[in-house]
Amino acid sequence: METMFIDGKWIAAQSGETIDVVAPADGQVFDRIGRGGMYEIDLAVRAARKARSGAWGRMSATERGRILTKIGVGVLDAIDLFAPIEARDTGKPMTTARNDIVVLARYFEFYGAAADKVHGEVIPFLDGYAVQLLRDPLGVTAHIIPWNYPAQMLGRTLAPALAMGNAAVLKPAEDTSLSALKFAEIAMAAGLPAGALNIVTGYGHEAGAALTAHPDINFATFTGSNEVGTMVQRATAANVVKCVLELGGKSPQIVFADADLDRAVPIIVKAIIQNAGQTCTAGSRLLIERKAYDEVVGRVAEAFSKTRVGTPEMDLDCGPVMNPAQLARVQGFIDAAKSDGIPVLAEGKLAAGLPSGGYYATPTLFGPVPRNNKLARDEVFGPVLAAFPFADEADAIALANGTDYGLLAAVWTENAGRLTRVAKAVQAGQVFMNCYGAGGGVELPFGGTKRSGHGREKGLLALEEMSSTKTLVHYHG
Ligand code: NAP
Ligand code: MG
Repeated sequence: METMFIDGKWIAAQSGETIDVVAPADGQVFDRIGRGGMYEIDLAVRAARKARSGAWGRMSATERGRILTKIGVGVLDAIDLFAPIEARDTGKPMTTARNDIVVLARYFEFYGAAADKVHGEVIPFLDGYAVQLLRDPLGVTAHIIPWNYPAQMLGRTLAPALAMGNAAVLKPAEDTSLSALKFAEIAMAAGLPAGALNIVTGYGHEAGAALTAHPDINFATFTGSNEVGTMVQRATAANVVKCVLELGGKSPQIVFADADLDRAVPIIVKAIIQNAGQTCTAGSRLLIERKAYDEVVGRVAEAFSKTRVGTPEMDLDCGPVMNPAQLARVQGFIDAAKSDGIPVLAEGKLAAGLPSGGYYATPTLFGPVPRNNKLARDEVFGPVLAAFPFADEADAIALANGTDYGLLAAVWTENAGRLTRVAKAVQAGQVFMNCYGAGGGVELPFGGTKRSGHGREKGLLALEEMSSTKTLVHYHG
């Protein structure tokens, strides 16, 4: 299977081995990808290094931006082909898959337009000196992305790297590599020079581990589990390579009694149901001021029980989860909460006529959840929402900050002072006030605190993360 895109050419794994591609909606194998490893990673890193010293490295920022913008247009033009591939590969509803492709295009639009607007600085210094701060690419960047939003992640991680003139090596998740392959075709057609983007398909513990441990990369970015993120940080540390980690969350929706519930309730439900809860920024904890607990939980339960799970073609509120391991994980959380005696407040419904081999989890709302329960602390990465009452503002903040994670949070109240106080006190990379963006737009800097990771992606800050400065000090007398 020629699914490795290296130095502008499609090649198969040297071993000749492949990995089956399975559709989460029905459990059927429908494609194969090559099983790349150390050998292909090394070829890809060499190709990227060569691109840095060749046409790509010499290209003006304006020309790079033009190519990125063209890639964005190419992605949108291909949406009717692209979205069904993404929907089949991930199981997500067709509307969500289409939206993901639009966001992928949007990343290239945004960073394409930004490429020639990253200016250096002139720094006032001693008499007789002129000091310039240049902003340089890092060199060869490594990108490991997960299976939950493959197309969006491609855009999020690659567009700023390429805008800054880095040459990239991407290892998509083995479960969802197809959008990356489609993307490479579009990028090539838009004029991206050979070697500027290289893709190696394969397993994380083989190709992924080889990439992050490669001595000739200059940067790595990883989105996924805490366990593997820690391994990536260790691997890059061995070569003193900078890494950005985005490791998920347990994001709180903090609802005070005076909140506008007509606005809040549908957003709260969507924030956990969307993508079957497999969203690092899923609003997975519902924190409610005790005096309004029954009312809020009642309204959320009513909306939650209307959610429907189906195939991509049914295009309902969410699809299956990614794979049998993820289904077992989600089901494990649900079973454990039930056996701990935590009340089920609402369940979504699986559509009639689902294929028997698919990986469908039933959306479940639990509450009140004891604060020491694992549902209060651990990321489920599935459509499971846990409700908790809190006493007052201080208690809400303590509860919100009471996990190892700190990725997103939302505060819902009509009291303007409290809205700002709580938003400032919550430990998170993004806080939404009377709204929720599940990660927000491409313009909004994004990333975690605590065990949600470090470094920032999205927005103009990503251009800083994916570049370095050089200070030129010139004595002119
Ligand atoms: P994972 O193992 O952390 O996978 C994320 C990415 O890392 C994939 O591309 C994976 O490749 C790759 N990878 C795996 N082992 C690697 C290694 N040793 N070195 C370098 N890269 C490696 O996540 P998962 O197993 O798919 O999911 C497990 C749990 O992680 C989920 O249940 C969820 O809690 C969490 N998760 C979080 C996010 C997020 O957005 N924060 C995303 C996905 C999963 P392969 O998939 O090909 O092995
Ligand atoms: Mg894995």
